[in-house]
Amino acid sequence: MTRVNNDLRNKIPENLREDFEKQTYKVQFVQLQKDQLTTERDGLLLHLEHEMDKYASVLRKLDEQNKTMEEIKNEFLREVSERKKLRAEALSALKEQEKNHSLEMDKLNQTILEYTCSICLSPWDTFGEHRLASLACGHLFGDDCIKICLSRAGECPTCRSSAHTGDLRYICDRYHLL
Ligand SMILES: [Zn+2]
Ligand SMILES: [Zn+2]
Repeated sequence: MTRVNNDLRNKIPENLREDFEKQTYKVQFVQLQKDQLTTERDGLLLHLEHEMDKYASVLRKLDEQNKTMEEIKNEFLREVSERKKLRAEALSALKEQEKNHSLEMDKLNQTILEYTCSICLSPWDTFGEHRLASLACGHLFGDDCIKICLSRAGECPTCRSSAHTGDLRYICDRYHLL
C-alpha cells in the first residue's frame, strides 16, 4: 500500500474503509495483471523482432541464391545459344560443301560424257582399236565402234548426217603419231 493510498485511507470514514481496502486490492490486482500482460507483450514483441530478423536474413540468403541461380541460368542460356550458332555455322558450311561436291560431280559426269564413246560408253584411247576417230560432221567415237556402226547404217549415230568409213579422221595427241 502506497503512502498516497494511506493518506486517502485516513480521510475515508470508518464504515467505508473496509470497502475502500477491497477496492484498493482489486486495483492492485488489476495493476499486477496489467504489469504481467505488459511483460508478456514485451516478450512477444522481442520474440517477434527476433523472428523478423531471422526472416529478413532468410530473405537475404534467398535473394543471394536467386542471384546465383540467375547467373547460372544466364550462363547456361549463353552456352546454349553459342552452341546453336556454332551448329548452324557448321551445318551451313556442310551444305556449301555438299553443293560444291555436287557441282564437281556434275562437271565430272559431263567430262566423262564428253570423253566417252557414245556407242559403247567407254573412254576412247589415243591408239589401238578404240582410238579416237572423227566423222565429217565432227562427232567423235572409238574407231572399232563407229566402223561397226557405219557398216550397218551409213549415218552418224549422234546427228544422223550421212557418213562413210572413208570420212573417218584419226585424232591423236603429240605422243601417239599415226
Ligand atoms: Zn566405243
Ligand atoms: Zn554427227
